[in-house]
Amino acid sequence: MYEAIKKKFEEMGVTLVAVTKTHPISTILEAYDAGYRNFGENRVQELVEKYEELPKDIRWHLIGNLQRNKVKYITPFVSLIHSIDSLKLLKEVNKEASKNNRVVDILLQLKIAREDTKSGMSESEIKQIVNSTAYSEMENIRICGLMGMATFTDDQEWVRNEFRFMKEVFERIKEMNFKDKIFFRILSMGMSGDYTIAIEEGSNMVRIGSLIFGNRT
Ligand SMILES: *Cc1c(COP(=O)(O)O)cnc(C)c1O
Repeated sequence: MYEAIKKKFEEMGVTLVAVTKTHPISTILEAYDAGYRNFGENRVQELVEKYEELPKDIRWHLIGNLQRNKVKYITPFVSLIHSIDSLKLLKEVNKEASKNNRVVDILLQLKIAREDTKSGMSESEIKQIVNSTAYSEMENIRICGLMGMATFTDDQEWVRNEFRFMKEVFERIKEMNFKDKIFFRILSMGMSGDYTIAIEEGSNMVRIGSLIFGNRT
């Protein structure tokens, strides 16, 4: 099961982030033994606890909302933060990464869904960050791409349009001149319910939980 899913995404050239929130260490180790190395969590505390107990060659992704006062707990080890939704938060990550002598890779979260519960920035807010002097002077973060979540709906065309819009924004930002331009190549979109459409629309990183580990209780 683990092997088959892993192979499927490898063949498509898409990076699979296995979303392990609520699942125990033993489950994560099963996937690890099957060759999985990218794991995603949406809560800081759970991420830190699992990091401490699990093999150190795992690449940990923070995919959920991040509060500024919790940034310091993950900057020592996190591989990719998907959920940067303000310049203030980015500044905090840069500051804490500097204390750890690290360069931390991040994605800017674009709001594509109509639902108010889903966070993220507009295209113009993202462009403002990319154009800002504050960001151009940050030496301890790298903007590596965008993350987005589509509306939770059965309307597949609606979802497709949101992903298509996200890919267009991604291309427009790639055209801009900024210090991390050469690292800007990750488009993190697609979950268990919508990854097929996301990949058709240009995703190269998917965040998949229930398809791999079953439903969360
Ligand atoms: C939980 C979660 C996922 C994975 O959801 P599944 O439907 O279980 O695949 C992906 N992205 C984010 C931000 C999540 O919180």
